Amino acid sequence: ITCSAENKTVVIGLAADSGCGKSTFMRRLTSVFGGAAEPPKGGNPDSNTLISDMTTVIYPPELTKPPKILVIEGLHPMYDERVRDLLDFSIYLDISNEVKFAWKIQRDMAERGHSLESIKASIEARKPDFDAYIDPQKQYADAVIEVLPTQLIPDDNEGKVLRVRLIMKEGVKYFNPVYLFDEGSTIGWIPCGRKLTCSYPGIKFSYSPDTYYGNEVSVLEMDGQFDRLDELIYVESHLSNISTKFYGEVTQQMLKHADFPGSNNGTGLFQTIVGLKIRDLYEQLIASKVGAPLEATRS
Ligand code: ADP
Repeated sequence: ITCSAENKTVVIGLAADSGCGKSTFMRRLTSVFGGAAEPPKGGNPDSNTLISDMTTVIYPPELTKPPKILVIEGLHPMYDERVRDLLDFSIYLDISNEVKFAWKIQRDMAERGHSLESIKASIEARKPDFDAYIDPQKQYADAVIEVLPTQLIPDDNEGKVLRVRLIMKEGVKYFNPVYLFDEGSTIGWIPCGRKLTCSYPGIKFSYSPDTYYGNEVSVLEMDGQFDRLDELIYVESHLSNISTKFYGEVTQQMLKHADFPGSNNGTGLFQTIVGLKIRDLYEQLIASKVGAPLEATRS
């Protein structure tokens, strides 16, 4: 954490409850930065502070003495104001209870042999701490990825088809929110048809300005899932401010990691896009620090 006082380290906070996709997000982020990374280091096991989170340092490969990006990843990176103030950008993965439950069942029951009752009990037992120390952090995040049950299937309770919202704070330096068709407008878009294959229940995008915990935000939403990932280029070509370096980079990343959880829906798409936005922010921040050495120390 002291690294952030140095000139050339960009510090990112990534917060979510356990089992909510932090490792998956880190893998997507690392890939966007070119794949070079230090193995994650555990927090100090003796520490009884809230800052017992994992940190990952990513070294972009193309430079010999590269500036660094430090990701503070865990349950509470935005809880303490002193830590929050060190962050150049922060992300909260907000998985609704219904979806969290569906994922836990998938992982703990199918893969680890736990019973439904014990999974329910462990979620219930964690709930007070989650409500008090984890969930409140989302108000401070620059970007929130909210994962909800679909609205395309009436009374869906399977938790397989997801409605995912990317909530992006306005006015954050070096971060220009992604938009669909027309910045600041309210848009609904069903891309299924000639250029995108959709099976039931289809795909629906929306985009609109909104407020979130008193902050102005832009919200991009995707409900449904992709049948064919290679056709994602059609969706990508209609999004703006996605911070790609070449046409089709989002689709390329999604295809490259098609085996990661969430690659056929908005969780994978928005995690990939946020990864590209962080790369962009990182490059702009480093350029500004190199260009103005006297302003390099953050006040
Ligand atoms: P964390 O690092 O926060 O504990 P992981 O990225 O390791 O979370 O994900 C934990 C598990 O949750 C995965 O093995 C998978 O079963 C499930 N999961 C995570 N992200 C998704 C997703 N986008 N869609 C479906 N399941 C997911």
